Amino acid sequence: MHSREHIRNIAIIAHVDHGKTTLVDKLLQQSGTFRDHETVQERAMDSNDLERERGITILAKNTAITYKDYLINIVDTPGHADFGGEVERIMKMVDGVLLVVDAYEGCMPQTKFVLRKALEHNLTPIVIVNKIDRPAARPAEVIDEVLDLFIELGANDEQLEFPVVYASALNGTSSMEDDPAKQDDNMMAIYDTIVSHIPHPTENVEEPLQFLVTLMDYNEYLGRIAIGRVNRGVIRQGQSVTVIMRDGKSKTARIEKLFGFQGLKRVETEEAGAGDIVAIAGIKDINIGETIADPNNPEALPVLKIDEPTLQMT
Ligand code: GDP
Repeated sequence: MHSREHIRNIAIIAHVDHGKTTLVDKLLQQSGTFRDHETVQERAMDSNDLERERGITILAKNTAITYKDYLINIVDTPGHADFGGEVERIMKMVDGVLLVVDAYEGCMPQTKFVLRKALEHNLTPIVIVNKIDRPAARPAEVIDEVLDLFIELGANDEQLEFPVVYASALNGTSSMEDDPAKQDDNMMAIYDTIVSHIPHPTENVEEPLQFLVTLMDYNEYLGRIAIGRVNRGVIRQGQSVTVIMRDGKSKTARIEKLFGFQGLKRVETEEAGAGDIVAIAGIKDINIGETIADPNNPEALPVLKIDEPTLQMT
């Protein structure tokens, strides 16, 4: 387990096409290069296709990168307003967001929509002005627009102090300066800003286990996969737990498999502590909004809002 101080949980939010996917890819590609004595983790998993197939179902939602001694969990957010409920739930899993804004297009409707959610959840924002390489890029104006949007949406004083990183996800470059000619040839400015600005988890590992099922995934080998953040305590592979359903009823279950994230891969892990984002397989009828709790102390977490139509799983 990483110490709580060395974990960062963030979501990436943006208007569609502003470069979320490209940014995550590049952050992943470069992350290994900042570690001592370790080989760079390749994007394509070459070991075998089956592993890749299994990995990718989760990759769609979660990625984790390592930077120096830090583990940065990245949760992707859906690009459409129809998934407002999912965005809302993701905001409860993270402590900060990277708001990616195109250096030419500036703020767009979805920028406003996702930023509002992040600010409402009191998250610490970092603004990434992406595509700084575009010939028509107008970073200074875009930052004015972003600041206006923060004010319009009622950002608090701390949120208004948001740091800005100028980047080209396409080229894998970044800088704290808005001059496109002054980009550094790596994205260290982004990693450093995440580590220095986003707060680390502060939940208590000593308390009885509580885990809110926040996202669901499915794969044919493992069945239902429940993803979420450990709200308190420690969760262990093989452990017996109580599942508290949305109607308040509860049942007993076992944590067959527990996974953390490493790059694009899901890695089996023995235990995870409060503040970690993990995936749990082996609980047959598990659903979003249910609480996985210590059988000796089964307390439910507040019920989640679920409003998108796609959650009905067969
Ligand atoms: P997403 O919808 O936010 O995930 O956006 P993508 O990452 O798929 O990027 C959308 C388009 O913008 C793609 O054609 C990317 O190649 C392009 N793109 C992403 N980042 C940059 C960048 O830094 N500079 C330029 N010029 N294009 C970029």
